[in-house]
Amino acid sequence: MNDHQLLRYSRHILLDDIDIDGQQKITAAHALIIGAGGLGSPAALYLASAGTGTITLADQDTVDLTNLQRQILHTTERVGQPKVASARQALTAINPGIDIIALDERLDGARLDALVRSATVVLDCTDNFATRHAINRACVTHKVPLVSGAAIRFDGQISVFDARDPVSPCYACLFPPQQSVDDINCATMGVFAPLVGIIGSMQAAEALKLIVGIGTSLAGRLQMLDARTMEWTTITLRRDAACSVCGHH
Ligand SMILES: [Zn+2]
Repeated sequence: MNDHQLLRYSRHILLDDIDIDGQQKITAAHALIIGAGGLGSPAALYLASAGTGTITLADQDTVDLTNLQRQILHTTERVGQPKVASARQALTAINPGIDIIALDERLDGARLDALVRSATVVLDCTDNFATRHAINRACVTHKVPLVSGAAIRFDGQISVFDARDPVSPCYACLFPPQQSVDDINCATMGVFAPLVGIIGSMQAAEALKLIVGIGTSLAGRLQMLDARTMEWTTITLRRDAACSVCGHH
């Protein structure tokens, strides 16, 4: 690391749990963030400011006026631009020393598979079950840890699904893909603006912990927040041996 980097990341390097070694792991890491909306905004901002060496951000939406209430990567003057282009501008302004790969597309199939395989950690910041399940399948296949967040109305949730750990459940253990679930999203239900900030920031925190290898991740635990009362509920998750994605079948 050069003098500029030592200064820029000094408040991380001062942390015994991170230090220069940990910061170098962050610099060498590749975070794949899927979704550049409410959750993806704070997640990407913190991963970029913290110096995550490569950030791939995928989203095929354009910035809409209704996004600006909570999607803090975007600005009024960038309404109408692709979200990933707007995001790249915001992230580069904070940290020009990292690589940002902006993909204006909806990832699936072989494309999703290849990107997940190349990632150190994947952050699911999407809002529909089909995509969530596709991301989970790719993470299980390639044993890449997945940091999953969700937020709707005043309800948030976050967990980590770490396929490197043989006892860690996957997303499908929790929400079986064959179960039909109606997508509920912000367009119809509304969402409390800072809630996505809280959950997205926690996703960045879990991703950095996984990259550096510190602390205890949320693998095996689902944290649910009711922002009306600011009360957290923790649910212990177990691997489902009959899971259609990670089980023995
Ligand atoms: Zn599973």
